[in-house]
Amino acid sequence: MAARLKPDEELVDAAYVSVDHVLTAAQHGIKLTGPLPPDSGWQARDPDAFDIRNFTIDWDHRHVTCPDGKQSRYWRETHSRDQLPIIQVTFRLPDCTPCPDRARCTRSERNARAMTFRPREQFEAQQHIRADQATDSWKEHYALRAGVEGTMAQESSHCDVHRARYRGLARTHLQHVLTATALNLVRTDAWLSGIPPAGAWTSRLTRLHGTLTAAM
Ligand code: SF4
Repeated sequence: MAARLKPDEELVDAAYVSVDHVLTAAQHGIKLTGPLPPDSGWQARDPDAFDIRNFTIDWDHRHVTCPDGKQSRYWRETHSRDQLPIIQVTFRLPDCTPCPDRARCTRSERNARAMTFRPREQFEAQQHIRADQATDSWKEHYALRAGVEGTMAQESSHCDVHRARYRGLARTHLQHVLTATALNLVRTDAWLSGIPPAGAWTSRLTRLHGTLTAAM
């Protein structure tokens, strides 16, 4: 803590991951790794449908070309309800109405295909992260985080670690070091006694069996 060293990488759960967080962390030299939410559009969940990956974005000329070769007519740079920069694109109704692929593209009965996506830097990072997190090597690496939620839940429920008992950073740091040491002893004892790690649900009968076996 005194050396103010920052981590090279942080493995976090989905609640802490957005493409903006990843890019901001990268500016500070930190790789933020965690599952980025998938594309929420129905087209991304239907393997026969056209999601954003089937379209070609021309960032310089500000238009999008669809899988049918048609070009968008409307490109608007605006902000989402969360004030994040977004781009809204719409295609032409005379192109989409007679299109043989319409059912794969839009569920609207009257409107042309429309889509919303992030500006180039965020969009490309998003696509890269989503492709990366589908690989076995990413899953294997992220598995390093397995069990840490159980450890933190145990610290919170058994050691009240969310509450600082003393004033001042140095004393609070000491409290955390002692808590971690005590928890290591508790977990080592549980491991030697064959008691499953916190977080894994077990029936009362299994817990009783574990206790009796440890006592023998
Ligand atoms: S519905 Fe419109 S955007 Fe979709 S493939 Fe057809 S012409 Fe292209």
